[in-house]
Amino acid sequence: MIEFQNVSKIYRGGKIAVEDINLSFEQGEFICFIGTSGSGKTTSMRMINRMTEPSKGKILIDGQDIQKLNAVELRRKIGYVIQSIGLMPHMTIRENITLVQKLLKVDQAKRDQTAEKMIDLVELPREMLDRYPSELSGGQQQRIGVVRALAADQDIILMDEPFGALDPITRDSLQDLVKDLQERLGKTIVFVTHDMDEALKLANRIAIMSEGRVVQFDTPENILKNPANSFVEDLLGEDRLLQARPDKTTVGEVMLNTAITITTEKSIQEALRLMREKRVDTLLVTDNQDVLKGFVDIESINKNRGLTASVGDILQAEVFFVKQSALLRNTLQRILKRGLKYVPVVDDHNRVVGIITRASLVDIVYDVVFGEEDSLMDAVESFNTDEVKEG
Ligand code: ADP
Ligand code: MG
Repeated sequence: MIEFQNVSKIYRGGKIAVEDINLSFEQGEFICFIGTSGSGKTTSMRMINRMTEPSKGKILIDGQDIQKLNAVELRRKIGYVIQSIGLMPHMTIRENITLVQKLLKVDQAKRDQTAEKMIDLVELPREMLDRYPSELSGGQQQRIGVVRALAADQDIILMDEPFGALDPITRDSLQDLVKDLQERLGKTIVFVTHDMDEALKLANRIAIMSEGRVVQFDTPENILKNPANSFVEDLLGEDRLLQARPDKTTVGEVMLNTAITITTEKSIQEALRLMREKRVDTLLVTDNQDVLKGFVDIESINKNRGLTASVGDILQAEVFFVKQSALLRNTLQRILKRGLKYVPVVDDHNRVVGIITRASLVDIVYDVVFGEEDSLMDAVESFNTDEVKEG
């Protein structure tokens, strides 16, 4: 819908503000330009409605070269919101909201209707329509600035650091408002910011600028996962990168080294003695090389007490285990969903090297992977329910 083709802007005096950018935005996208001061964000944005003319290349809107359109008409088709709000002080809020409609010669009844719809959208009282901007707080004025841009039925809206001067709480609620309205009304918004949190929150795709060039253009998720270079990494900061990086913790790193094992040739009496001594109701059974063979529990021991059998004769061979080298995030759900009290951990030769207990897993879930996946939290919840049932 909006396309930059090899666009450059060189200001008089030779300053290269924008250098050979190629970008393409879809209809209904929320695009953020982000970058340090002077990186060419504002210049790029202003070329979309020809407030600034490109020195090289061209910009297409709906396939049309905007250079061939009438600049004034083009500007009326594109909303524009700036940091200083830009409400006309001598006009009422109603007149401000419907300014562009008036220019487009929309009749008064329709304009009143729009003004009411818009003030309802931003949840301000309708009485406010007949007040002047100076009678409103800064945050209220900026809300009006936002809806004014949305009121004229323009499909494209440009916003240049519109919330930069607002306090954090007002900024946060206006971000929510803009995102909500954009999604509901299907507008295409091109938004300039130097605030990474703002860009990550609002954008479908982010264009990261440095010294007039676009260094990365992608979704917030992909940028966090694969920053293009160290400039992008610095812009994102270590905390955000750490949060986005999938957790690499292995089972081996969090297991306990307290597996209680017995070898297959031992007698049932010896198994019983070991259970009493260690105060456990199951034992892992291994061969002489520590290779996991199965387990025995107190019920099967009790049943076979009188027999002169060995542990190997009565073991249950079906045992769920995990590999030491497995990623915890890949095994966690399986462990929790099975509702096992503990799971043996083996090395690559199936030798028992430790255990993972359910109790320790809950701590891990909260410490390492909390919030990563809803399904994970479901698993933890069902785990907690099991625990209650067991009493
Ligand atoms: P940003 O919005 O990312 O802070 P701008 O697009 O405003 O950056 O500016 C990019 C570069 O172009 C800066 O170095 C700036 O000083 C320069 N610049 C902007 N406007 C003009 C102008 N009218 N004349 C000359 N240089 C300009
Ligand atoms: Mg700027």
